[in-house]
Amino acid sequence: MKTSRIPGFYNMTVEERRQLIAKMHQLTDEEKKSLYTADSLSVETADKMIENTIGTFSLPLGLGLNFLINDKEYVVPMAIEEPSVVASASYIAKIVRSAGGFTTEATDRVMIGQIQVVGCPDTQEAKDAILNEKEVLIKSANDAYPSLVGRGGGAEDLDVRILNEDDNSQYTQMLILHIYVNTCDAMGANIINTMVESLAPTVERITKGKVYLRILSNFADRCLARATCTIPPELLKSDGFTGEEVRDGVIHAYEFAASDPYRAVTHNKGIMNGIDPVVIATGNDWRAVEAGAHAYAARNGHYGSMTTWSVDDAGNLVGELELPMSVGTVGGSIRVHPTSKIAHKILDVESAQELAQVIVAVGLAQNLGALKALATEGIQRGHMELHSRSVAMAAGASGEMIDIIAEQLIEANEIRVGKAKELMKEQKI
Ligand code: NDP
Repeated sequence: MKTSRIPGFYNMTVEERRQLIAKMHQLTDEEKKSLYTADSLSVETADKMIENTIGTFSLPLGLGLNFLINDKEYVVPMAIEEPSVVASASYIAKIVRSAGGFTTEATDRVMIGQIQVVGCPDTQEAKDAILNEKEVLIKSANDAYPSLVGRGGGAEDLDVRILNEDDNSQYTQMLILHIYVNTCDAMGANIINTMVESLAPTVERITKGKVYLRILSNFADRCLARATCTIPPELLKSDGFTGEEVRDGVIHAYEFAASDPYRAVTHNKGIMNGIDPVVIATGNDWRAVEAGAHAYAARNGHYGSMTTWSVDDAGNLVGELELPMSVGTVGGSIRVHPTSKIAHKILDVESAQELAQVIVAVGLAQNLGALKALATEGIQRGHMELHSRSVAMAAGASGEMIDIIAEQLIEANEIRVGKAKELMKEQKI
């Protein structure tokens, strides 16, 4: 049976890990070869993906373990260069699974396309005219992408807003049409852009105005995923801290982020430390997810914490994360990048909705990992110990010398490149 609980995975060699995962997830010979190849994205494929290609750029791919989400086991591929993120996510997921795991849910995958209309002779009349022709416009959008309708998705609704209504300057007053599209298992940017571009001539005819922008909105507030966890304090205790102290420290840390944008940005960066690696590993557009997530954190008029942490009547720590999650399991480069294809196979999600839920659960875990460390011993010890190998490499260490220098840096409690260079001189390297 597939499980995400793999004791000792951390201590295995890369080869042992690969063999175990290949067996557990029944990777084909081709997939194994691709995973084993240093740079599985060939330059030929890369050259078809973007412009002016001169090579490819690799990131470490790790696995977040111990994730139990809605009673299903997930081994979570994470592509990231920063040490301690994968370890922290796996550590918190282990605590949360002892408390029953994460509970998640997601809305339908409704994305928004925007059409900007300017220069209408009468903006209010133009708005009414669009609303009168709503059904025609929705049908016309769907005619531009019939395969989506065949899958049970497509344009579902439409709305119009007037921006700067009281300002008659040539550039400021505009009519903005929103079309709401269920993009099924695709992120949907190209689908929506095709639809809004196809609608433009009809919109100009109806409004007697001029259409400029026709583009998806990355503020995907109708494409939400939510994760929650409830943890008894006894599962939170750590060296020198009772579970209640840790719980209260986490809630104080959350309240700090909720009240102060200087803290909120860093707090939320920590959440994205968990989210981005899964978005990247699964071949999704992390800029889109980042933009939507931060906008959602400011939806009430001030930028605050993406998560909430509180205590319930039984004294448990309760965490929640809700974010727009415009990711897909098809489309874009998802089925083009060989490692992304393997990531999907290992993760084993059946829909974009399910993928979105896994991603917010990882974000919530990552946030708790950071807050728990910050509210107790601080993040530096664990983080810098894991960072010591990168420092040793930055100083020029290679092969087995990396671990030797890294250990000496930890012993000296001075994890700096300058110190690593000194140690290497002493080793006469
Ligand atoms: P695609 O253009 O690849 O469209 C998805 C395709 O997947 C559809 O054409 C559909 O083809 C196919 N498909 C197969 N199965 C399904 C299914 N179950 N549900 C839905 N579609 C399915 O990608 P997207 O439209 O998702 O666009 C994503 C890309 O757009 C990303 O690479 C992103 O970086 C980029 N982008 C982002 C922008 C932004 O964020 N602002 C702007 C512009 C582009 P068919 O129906 O024919 O089988």
